[in-house]
Amino acid sequence: MFKNDIIKNNLLQQETPLYFYDLRLLEKTLDAAKKAADKRNFHIHYALKANFNDRILSLIQSKGFGADCVSGNEVQKSIDIGFPAEKITFAGVGKSDKEIITALKHKIFAFNVESIQELEVINELAGQVGEKANVSLRINPNVDAHTHHYITTGLDENKFGVPNSELEKAAAVINSCENIHLVGLHFHVGSQITDLNVFKSLCVKVNEWKNWFEERGTYIKVLNVGGGLGVDYKYPDENPIPDFEAYFDIFDKFLERTSQQEVHFELGRALVAQCGTLVSKVLYTKSGVKKNFLILDAGMTELMRPALYQAYHKIEKIGEEIAGVQKLNYDVVGPICESSDCFGKEVELPPCKRGDLIAIRTAGAYGEVMASNYNLRNEIRHYYYE
Ligand SMILES: *Cc1c(COP(=O)(O)O)cnc(C)c1O
Repeated sequence: MFKNDIIKNNLLQQETPLYFYDLRLLEKTLDAAKKAADKRNFHIHYALKANFNDRILSLIQSKGFGADCVSGNEVQKSIDIGFPAEKITFAGVGKSDKEIITALKHKIFAFNVESIQELEVINELAGQVGEKANVSLRINPNVDAHTHHYITTGLDENKFGVPNSELEKAAAVINSCENIHLVGLHFHVGSQITDLNVFKSLCVKVNEWKNWFEERGTYIKVLNVGGGLGVDYKYPDENPIPDFEAYFDIFDKFLERTSQQEVHFELGRALVAQCGTLVSKVLYTKSGVKKNFLILDAGMTELMRPALYQAYHKIEKIGEEIAGVQKLNYDVVGPICESSDCFGKEVELPPCKRGDLIAIRTAGAYGEVMASNYNLRNEIRHYYYE
């Protein structure tokens, strides 16, 4: 798409930097995910934290997805966009009293609870506001997601979930709490997982813990296996839509369940990453002693992933490629006063000049949502392709 001169000319009229959202691709991606899930009677809650842009949320809501939230404001946002309360879940290790009360008042489907103390607090607050709270217990399955250590969440040393050694006590606390009803078990092992064997290992753990509870007479209605399905950052054009069939198939095959038990997923990145591109203009080119630099008008304030966890994003020059032009290696950097403000090193690109447009691909997830106004930067702009 970014080889197209019409798009280039459209974008040249816009003030940059901007987030370009391909709503057609988003719709195709959502349809593929929904179709693969429906076929197996699986339910998907979209993880809002990946991208809470209104246009994107509205499209996702209109397709019948639920919402997976990690703050009271995300719960409120989901309600405002039109997600039905019975399709909203609320996770996170540090829910404040105020956030819990917001969620209770909206009668959301369930809290994903991460500690015994949190169970007790939800029970107490539910009593105060006269509500009953559905909870799913987040279990740390100790499965290595084989992804970046900052986005690995399901190991014993991570802060997430109730440790296995405390589950006996958690089950007893749930039984003694009047205002709490256990609906399910919740797991989430990490993000950007591309090795489907990780999910196979997760299924084994889910089966074990489900059996553990059922042996103790506690019926588990919902198995929530979290999100984490990865996308192809290297080849966004070749693989614009993740293989949802293969992903759901793993759970269909390996998760033990009865026809009454529901399987819930919380996908974020897999649904929205590929539809987003950060579009930026070259402000300056500079040849250092050893390097060529492209200095862009976008920086870590618009897309933090490279600075935060050395994430790779494909970088392209926008517009028609001229055959036979010798490419150059550039360090592509932003204007922010931090050395980590760099989108890519030694990136091979056709020769670039001031005013050229650059696309930083696969930026639809954990991009715009992490934008900041550090250096008192402008608010981010948008361009919707529909
Ligand atoms: C972040 C998060 C997700 C979504 O993860 P993706 O990798 O974007 O699919 C799902 N569940 C929980 C609990 C999360 O924290």
